[in-house]
Amino acid sequence: MVSYPLIPPGPIGRFKSDWPLVLSGRQRYNDGWILGFATVRLSDCVYLMDDCLIIGGGVIGLSLAYELSGRGLTVRLVERGQMGREASWAGAGILPPGGKQGNDRPIDQLTALSCRLHPQWAKQLREETGIDTGYRRCGGIYVARGPAEAATLAELVTDARRRAIEVDELSASQLADLEPALADDGKMLAACHLPEEAQIRNPRHLKALLAACVRRGVRLNTGTSVHRFDVSDGRITAARTNAGVFQAERYCLTAGCWSRALLEHLQTPLAVKPVRGQIVLLQSQPGRLTRIINQGPRYLVPRPDGRVLIGSTEDDVGFDRRTTSEGISSLLRFALELAPGLADAEVERTWAGLRPATPNRLPILGQLPNLENAFVATGHFRAGLQLSAATAVVMSQLIRGEQPQIDLAPFRASLSRC
Ligand SMILES: Cc1cc2nc3c(=O)[nH]c(=O)nc-3n(C[C@H](O)[C@H](O)[C@H](O)COP(=O)(O)OP(=O)(O)OC[C@H]3O[C@@H](n4cnc5c(N)ncnc54)[C@H](O)[C@@H]3O)c2cc1C
Repeated sequence: MVSYPLIPPGPIGRFKSDWPLVLSGRQRYNDGWILGFATVRLSDCVYLMDDCLIIGGGVIGLSLAYELSGRGLTVRLVERGQMGREASWAGAGILPPGGKQGNDRPIDQLTALSCRLHPQWAKQLREETGIDTGYRRCGGIYVARGPAEAATLAELVTDARRRAIEVDELSASQLADLEPALADDGKMLAACHLPEEAQIRNPRHLKALLAACVRRGVRLNTGTSVHRFDVSDGRITAARTNAGVFQAERYCLTAGCWSRALLEHLQTPLAVKPVRGQIVLLQSQPGRLTRIINQGPRYLVPRPDGRVLIGSTEDDVGFDRRTTSEGISSLLRFALELAPGLADAEVERTWAGLRPATPNRLPILGQLPNLENAFVATGHFRAGLQLSAATAVVMSQLIRGEQPQIDLAPFRASLSRC
């Protein structure tokens, strides 16, 4: 991506971060021209002023850039690596349904709004970019294979009914009719079916968001890491990066589990930390499983092409993104107990990602304390894909000075130390 720093005589191209740039210009001198050259380090470049600078190009940053640019703001998105290659790429793309009534808690309102928006965004993104995000209302099955899971499942059914989410309790034979590949070992204590559960293909969704941002004129800077902010009179005045100084009217931090480190020098505590999740991708036969199968925190997500994702672990290991033999073998054991027919499936790939987690497991959404033009949207833990569209809408409302349609007060609790 080519960027144009505000240094005369410009414009210049950016080739690789921290390379010195050669600037050339020409001036009339007597009857001829003289050419001038100067070299400049990228980190000294000052860029054009934007309406909003977003820091972190995961699904949250990209969705917000998409939404804000659609509302007419000039937006720049800076990402220290490649866009959408961290937690957002690693996720399984499960979108559980939202309630149609009784959404008393703001988190339920956020979920419900996102569930309404996802099919609209999928259609809109396809129209704008030609990319199919893989959004499908495939349905989800929840199974309990132990007493504790059975109790949780009973609560899930009650809560779903209260919020008018379609739910069917299943007998063993009904479960076998819907998903014949599931184990018939007498250990299924309870099961239910949520027909409105959906899935999305994360890499395709991120690709579509990125392409749509380009079409909407979002300025994108990859390989650009924000190190610190300049602050004056209760406002951020600039973001300093390895590739220059960026200035904007407003700043929004969407740096996932790395958000906390970014604010430490501002004495603004942010209780967010990484929780690793590992995934195994199998290549199986198309149609062997058709719905998402959930058991406790683990799941099988079948794709139409026969691939099956097995997820996921919750590992409290800091910023370690490796997969481990223990994690992968426990996922395989889980999958084969639940669906023994997967035993002959090929293991295509394994990976891990770092979820941004908060102590109360709610995202952090809002304005940063004591900084009138700085905002944060992070800490989505296991539901970042699911909540991304609604997060973009409410944060866009806040950043543009409107009253957000959902009360964001409960999402400010984790603006304190872990
Ligand atoms: C295995 C796994 C399975 C999951 N499954 C699901 C699921 O089924 N459904 C669901 O809804 N969610 C799921 N999630 C959760 C979801 O993926 C996350 O909540 C979501 O991706 C968080 O998005 P994000 O944009 O906040 O973070 P990220 O995607 O991590 O993006 C943050 C970005 O900020 C950049 N950055 C960091 N520091 C800086 C800096 N200083 N300067 C510039 N850029 C910076 C990073 O490079 C990164 O690209 C899953 C997660 C994992 C790991």
